[in-house]
Amino acid sequence: MMLGSVVVGIGIAGCVRMRDLLAPLPCSTAEKFSIRGFVSRRTLEDQQGVKQISMTEALNRDDIHAAFICTENTNHEEYIRQFLEAGKHVCVEYPMTLSYTSAVDLWNLAQQKGLVLHEEHIELFTPDFKQLKKDIAGKTLEEGTLHFTGGSLKPNFGFPSFSGIARLTWLVDLFGELTVTAASLVEEKENKCMKMTAHLLTRQQKPLTWIEERGPGLGRAKHIHLRFQDASITELPAGQREPVGLFMQDLVLFGRKLQGEVSAAELQEERSRILHCLQLADRIQQLSESTQA
Ligand code: NAD
Repeated sequence: MMLGSVVVGIGIAGCVRMRDLLAPLPCSTAEKFSIRGFVSRRTLEDQQGVKQISMTEALNRDDIHAAFICTENTNHEEYIRQFLEAGKHVCVEYPMTLSYTSAVDLWNLAQQKGLVLHEEHIELFTPDFKQLKKDIAGKTLEEGTLHFTGGSLKPNFGFPSFSGIARLTWLVDLFGELTVTAASLVEEKENKCMKMTAHLLTRQQKPLTWIEERGPGLGRAKHIHLRFQDASITELPAGQREPVGLFMQDLVLFGRKLQGEVSAAELQEERSRILHCLQLADRIQQLSESTQA
């Protein structure tokens, strides 16, 4: 059976989703999707040959089985809830919500309804990350820093520990569960600059520092400094470029979940990682806000 789909939010991510749904990777689960329309708060012409439909239509049509939520972060939660309540599977761009408790709620709702709730994490598919993971396998961490820089964020993307959850996901995927020992946010609102610093500890009590820095003209980059017992990594390795795009890899994964091809153990592990990251993001926000005078 084809999975009728709708894309919600026609920004950068939403347009890529439509492109991928229209030209799925051959012989993959991505071919199971069939795009039926898109939803936008604006009134738009056809996009890539796809028609705009209303939210009501998207929620009520029997031939729509899955929604791709690609809006800005502040309204993911509300859209996810509406689609789950309407009995639709959901694929949401990270971060799924801007609080840990709302994510737990939504996951419980999906479970009750027997629906797939999938949070996109394309950062785990990048060649650099895959190579880094290989390079550090078997090494014992002593301490590390991940410093992300990028241009100013548009409004409605949430606290930086949430909008930057991809960096936190890297650290958790590489080093396991973490605890937050301190966090702060320095903001210069008039200059659209901000710098968040979070101090973390691994289960082995090794310190990790995560810095998320944004401002006009700051180049998008990740600087790493990882010190291991017998080696240091101070630059991201350049991984092998792959023919399949990052969002397409995510679409295939969502499709595999819908086809029941992902084991319960894998689903559980992924869900634990996602909720753990959101819990850390919550904690970082709390600590940052309590230290901001
Ligand atoms: P975006 O700013 O391009 O779009 C965000 C929202 O703004 C969309 O709902 C879109 O419909 C709306 N929008 C865009 N242009 C508009 C306009 N001219 N007028 C009115 N509304 C407009 O942001 P994005 O990069 O697509 O991010 C969407 C989601 O995807 C976010 O949750 C983000 O965290 C996630 N995400 C994006 C990427 C990426 O590479 N862009 C990667 C991973 C996750």
